[in-house]
Amino acid sequence: MEQIGHYIDGAEAAGGSGRTADVFNPATGEVQARVALAGTEEVNRAVEIAAAAQPEWGAATPQARARVMMRMVDLLHRDMDRLAEVLSREHGKTFPDARGDVQRGLEVVEFCIGAPHLLKGEYTDSAGPGIDMYSMRQPLGVAAGITPFNFPAMIPMWMFAPALVCGNAFILKPSERDPGVPVMLAALMEEAGLPRGVLQVVNGDREAVDALLDHPTVQAIGFVGSTPIAEYIYGRGCSAGKRMQCFGGAKNHMIIMPDADMDQAADALIGAGYGAAGERCMAISVAVPVGDETADRLIGKLAPKVEALKIGPCTAGDDVDFGPVITAAAKQGILELVNSGVEQGAKLVVDGRDFSLQGYEHGFFVGAHLFDRVTPDMDIYQKEIFGPVLSTVRAQSYEQAISLAMDHEYGNGAAIFTRDGDTARDFANRINIGMVGVNVPIPVPLAYHSFGGWKKSAFGDLNQHGPDSIRFYTRTKTVTTRWPSGIREGADFSIPTMD
Ligand code: NAD
Repeated sequence: MEQIGHYIDGAEAAGGSGRTADVFNPATGEVQARVALAGTEEVNRAVEIAAAAQPEWGAATPQARARVMMRMVDLLHRDMDRLAEVLSREHGKTFPDARGDVQRGLEVVEFCIGAPHLLKGEYTDSAGPGIDMYSMRQPLGVAAGITPFNFPAMIPMWMFAPALVCGNAFILKPSERDPGVPVMLAALMEEAGLPRGVLQVVNGDREAVDALLDHPTVQAIGFVGSTPIAEYIYGRGCSAGKRMQCFGGAKNHMIIMPDADMDQAADALIGAGYGAAGERCMAISVAVPVGDETADRLIGKLAPKVEALKIGPCTAGDDVDFGPVITAAAKQGILELVNSGVEQGAKLVVDGRDFSLQGYEHGFFVGAHLFDRVTPDMDIYQKEIFGPVLSTVRAQSYEQAISLAMDHEYGNGAAIFTRDGDTARDFANRINIGMVGVNVPIPVPLAYHSFGGWKKSAFGDLNQHGPDSIRFYTRTKTVTTRWPSGIREGADFSIPTMD
C-alpha cells in the first residue's frame, strides 16, 4: 500500500503521529494509499523550519524570486501529464479536466513572474519641505494555506505562488482526500530553485489545522473549503490575531432570459452543471428561466442532453463527461438530498439514482439529475449539493429571478444569459455576488484578476490571486524621510501638517 507522508525541510517525510487516513480510488472504491495525519508536534517543527528559512528567502531580490516562478512554469509544463494522472486517479475527474486543474494553477505561477512590478510600492517626491515619502511591501514571514479536495493542484498554487514570490515561507495543509499532487508540487518548486524549508506540505486533518491556527509564528492563513469550516477557521484565526482569508461553499444561479440563445444556454448549463460531477465551487447548480415558456423550452433542450451524459472512470479517456464523486459519504449525501427534493415536491425530470457502471459497482459514481419546479424552501435549493444535480427554479420576471439569487445566503458566482445589454448591465451592477458572467456560465477570473465570492462564500477582505494576493501576503510600511537641509530649528509640538 502506498504511504503518503509530508514534505518537510526539503524532503518527503513519513508521518510521525501514528495516525493515517485512507485515500480512495473513487472509480473503484478501493483504498489506494494511506496519508499521514500530522500531529501538533510535526506542524510545530515545520513552522520552526519555515521561520528559519524565511529571512534569507525574503531578502532575495524580487527578480530572483520571480525567476524561480519562471522555472516552475517550465517544470509544470514538463510534468503536466504526470501530475494530471495522479490527480485524476485520486480525485476521479477526467484527464483533460485534471490537466485544466494544473493549468489554472500554472497560470497563477505565471502571474507571479510579474510580481516584482506589483511589489514596487509607492513614492512621493517632496511630500513636504525636504520631505520624501515612500511605501514598501514587506513579506509577513510564515504563512499557511488549507485547501479542499476539488482542485488539488490549482488551489494550492493560488496560495503558495503569491505567498512565496512576496518573500514568505509557506506551509500547505492540503485535503487528506487527494494529497498526492501537493507533495509533488512542493518537490517541483525546489527543483525550480526554491530554497529548502521555504515551502512545506503537512498532511493532516483538524489537529494539523488547529496547530497552524494556534501557532503564534504563523502570520496569515488562506483557506478554501466548505462554509462551516471556513467560518470556524476564520473565527479562530482572527482571534489569534492572524490575517485571514477564508473561502466557502456556493450555490451559483444562472438566469436565462426569454431572449437568450436557448441552445447556447442549454450547452452552458450542461458543462457548468455537470462538469467534474458538479464538484466545483463555480458550478452552476440552479437554473432560473424567466417565464414558463422559457422554462419549457429550456427543459426540453436540457433533458435529452442530461440523459446522454457519459459517466465513467478517468481511465476511459474522451468517452467520459464526468467521473465519480470523491467519497462514498459524498455520494450518499448527494442521493439523500435528491430524495429530499422528490419528497418535498420538486419534479425529477432526469433521475440518475439507479445509475450503476458495470465493472465499477463499488465506485462512487452518481448519475446525472435534473430537477424542475424547485422552490426556495426546499433543501435542494438551500443547501450546496456538490454533485451532478441541476435544480430549475421558474421565475415569472427578471426582478423575481435576480431577487432569488440575491436572497440566497451564498454569493460566489452568478450568470445571466440574454441578448439584451440593458438587462445584462443591470444584472452585473446590482447582483450581490462576487463573480458574474454575462453569457459565460463559469465566470472564474483569470490569474491576473482576483477570485472571490461574497456573503457566506467568503470571509475576509482580500481575494485569491491577482493584485489582491500580493496585498494579502505583504505588509505595507510607509517611510517619511527628511534630510538635514530641510530641518527647521527648534521643537514643534503640533501635529505635522502640510498647510
Ligand atoms: P472541507 O471544508 O471539508 O475541507 C477543506 C479543508 O478543511 C481540508 O483541508 C480539510 O482537511 C479541512 N477540514 C475539514 N474539516 C475540518 C475541521 N473540522 N477543522 C479543521 N479543518 C477541517 O471542504 P472539501 O469537501 O474539501 O471541499 C469542498 C468545499 O469547498 C465545497 O463547499 C466547495 O464549494 C468549497 N470550495 C470553495 C471554493 C471557493 O473558492 N469559494 C473553491 C473550491 C471549493
